[in-house]
Amino acid sequence: MTDAAFEIAFKNVFGRAPEGAWSAPGRVNLIGEHTDYNDGHVMPFALPHATRAAVARRDDGLLRLHSADMDGGVVELRVADLAPGTTEGWARYPAAVLWTLRQAGHDIGGADLHFDSSVPVGGGLSSSAALQVVTALALTELHGVTGLSRQELALLCQSSENTYVGAPVGVMDQTASACCTEGHALHLDVRGLVQHQVPFDLAAEGLRLLVCDTRVKHAHADGAYGKLRAGCESAAGTLGLPALRDVAFDQLDAALESLPDERLRRLTRHVVTENHRVEEVLALLRAGRTRDIGPVLTAGHASLRDDFQVSCPELDLVVDTALAAGALGARMTGGGFGGSAIVLVEESDEAAVAAAVEAALPQVRQFATVPGPGAHRLW
Ligand code: ADP
Ligand code: MG
Repeated sequence: MTDAAFEIAFKNVFGRAPEGAWSAPGRVNLIGEHTDYNDGHVMPFALPHATRAAVARRDDGLLRLHSADMDGGVVELRVADLAPGTTEGWARYPAAVLWTLRQAGHDIGGADLHFDSSVPVGGGLSSSAALQVVTALALTELHGVTGLSRQELALLCQSSENTYVGAPVGVMDQTASACCTEGHALHLDVRGLVQHQVPFDLAAEGLRLLVCDTRVKHAHADGAYGKLRAGCESAAGTLGLPALRDVAFDQLDAALESLPDERLRRLTRHVVTENHRVEEVLALLRAGRTRDIGPVLTAGHASLRDDFQVSCPELDLVVDTALAAGALGARMTGGGFGGSAIVLVEESDEAAVAAAVEAALPQVRQFATVPGPGAHRLW
């Protein structure tokens, strides 16, 4: 839908013109899974797919929300009544952002917001973070809030999901949507929130990256996340460390020996080796050896499948099929239990690999992608 059609869609819903429109992307995580809440390293990049918001302020204290992607029409809330746990359905994501901004002392009142998105919803590509970040950017810019960095904006969005939506997520997805730049992967060291934009130009090297959405989301995904996070915190506590990030890669065996419980050993081994894989990928990209990241991605998948145990049969099938058909590397991306896998292939093998994946899992939705821009104002 063009910008003009998007503006008309807002008018059709709210009967007046929007004051502006913003866009925030979904993301793929190249490497560094379940490491963000362990104070570790991640390396996502923004998808060209994004969620848009057309917005106009209101002076009557109402927050009115509409999404082209959801049934049920306009959701109307009173800004003064917003409170954690009180909002149902998709509207809790933008409501949470507004509540959190106000809690942080930003004087933001009512608004009409109309959303649409090209990010597959529930596909492990962070449509939820795109929705949060586009809301936060639109409301802060429209209300003239200054002095809030993109990283701070992402932290507010994470906090809104932790507190208001009730999901104990890390900060990767929101940071990716807010801070990524076109043509780059974002290396984020979550401890200290140090960012590096890492050039990631697949086409120049004759490579393609396929995103394969399995279109499954297993039901236990939400509860499992909190248990995994608690397990990691318990392992770090047992080791007397602030976070699993503090286990050095060359000290892993010693750390494993001091953990009493097989599950905690598995979780620890994943987080420590995964942090190491992020550093390996970073070094390879900086050395111009993009092809060589393939085996590191595949090793990351094995670790998520066997040690962290967050893969599922559909993700394993995509990864195994792609590798058997000649892919350079493949892994699940995102939290797991469904969602998407990424596959690195030579340009010349793209069609054959995609065909093999589709034959193995006919419901799959696949596309080749490149790093797109982070969140920005459209007009
Ligand atoms: P993912 O972030 O992997 O796409 P999640 O389950 O974390 O999956 O987030 C999906 C939820 O985010 C949806 O169920 C809905 O509540 C909300 N959401 C995402 N995109 C939109 C959209 N375009 N319009 C309305 N709600 C959306
Ligand atoms: Mg999400």
